[in-house]
Amino acid sequence: MLIPFNKPYLTGRELDYIREAVDMGKISGNGEFTRRCQEFFEQRYGFQKCLLTTSCTDALEMAAILLDLQPGDEVILPSFTFVSSANAFVLRGAKIVFVDSQADHPNLDVTHLERLITSKTKAIVVVHYGGLACDMDEIMAIANRHGIFVVEDAAQAIASTYQGKALGGIGHLGCFSFHETKNIQCGEGGMLAINHPDFVKRAEIIWEKGTNRAAFFRGEIDKYGWVDVGSSFLPSEVTAAFLWAQLENLNSIQHRRIQIWNDYHSFLTHQELPQLLDLNYLTLLQKAGEGLSFSVMSKDKMANAHLFYVLFESLEARTAFAQMLKDHRILSVFHYQSLHRSQVAQGLFPDQYQRQLPNSDKFSDCLLRLPLFFELGEMSKLIAAP
Ligand SMILES: *Cc1c(COP(=O)(O)O)cnc(C)c1O
Repeated sequence: MLIPFNKPYLTGRELDYIREAVDMGKISGNGEFTRRCQEFFEQRYGFQKCLLTTSCTDALEMAAILLDLQPGDEVILPSFTFVSSANAFVLRGAKIVFVDSQADHPNLDVTHLERLITSKTKAIVVVHYGGLACDMDEIMAIANRHGIFVVEDAAQAIASTYQGKALGGIGHLGCFSFHETKNIQCGEGGMLAINHPDFVKRAEIIWEKGTNRAAFFRGEIDKYGWVDVGSSFLPSEVTAAFLWAQLENLNSIQHRRIQIWNDYHSFLTHQELPQLLDLNYLTLLQKAGEGLSFSVMSKDKMANAHLFYVLFESLEARTAFAQMLKDHRILSVFHYQSLHRSQVAQGLFPDQYQRQLPNSDKFSDCLLRLPLFFELGEMSKLIAAP
């Protein structure tokens, strides 16, 4: 492949910090690099309390435990999302109620929310697709009116904002991913942002296997024990050290990704000349045709250039275009298949399997993600004129 879909970016400092962590003689979790990473997010984005996790999947599972879900409780989430957004709550015995996407964007359609809420609804999980904010004002107002929690699956949304406020810090809980496909990565990693004071103390206990070990190490208690349910959600210092090298470079990484995103957008919508991407490469993409829609952003919803997608009229058109790119050795990939159509939904929630969520299905069939990574600028120069 000449241009892969993604190439994880390395800042060059990762191994130095890992060595430092090893030399400090403590590489289990909750050490110096974990503290640095967590404080970075707390200070920069004003999240009340952050806990690094081994994945966003784990952060979502922590959120599900914190919400004290009982079997039969309902959780509303979009059908067009990654399995982890649903799994975390299914593991606690919750019933998933799927909400359709907006007609013009994969984010959930807020106008459907209220009629999906029942006396059993405990939470709404919003997914900021491609790092673009959901309609958080409306969602928080609905949630508050019904006394239900909002969990932000902000896996793709580091450094994105809604009306100037960082995503992941608006709902009661926010879950981030540092998987190698995300903007900032450490192979496998994640974080839970706790934005509601009632959850802070318990989150730390759940994080450390259901013990009050963190408080013990701060000297607040003289012995630690088993005080709640929990699991081993914290990453080792090796992971945190790697992540720290990335966070130190967050500004330059974001700057580059946004330039690339802008190149895609301004060329495909207004034929503006690119700054980083090669003209031959972009010209090739024009074969996607006229009248297609692309990723969006607005002043109120500043996305983080996590991904750039093109939306086709049909599955056939998408397949043909992806094949054309592949013939030029460029890898593009589609995304989620509607969860309400999944085997698991059919088995566990047959009523959901029967539902019609046409927008979710449309994005499953027609959305295609183009390569977007730090070094794409240089690589795109290898594409010959179409
Ligand atoms: C990547 C992603 C996840 C899972 O993140 P992991 O860190 O791999 O567990 C969950 N939800 C969404 C929307 C994602 O994009």
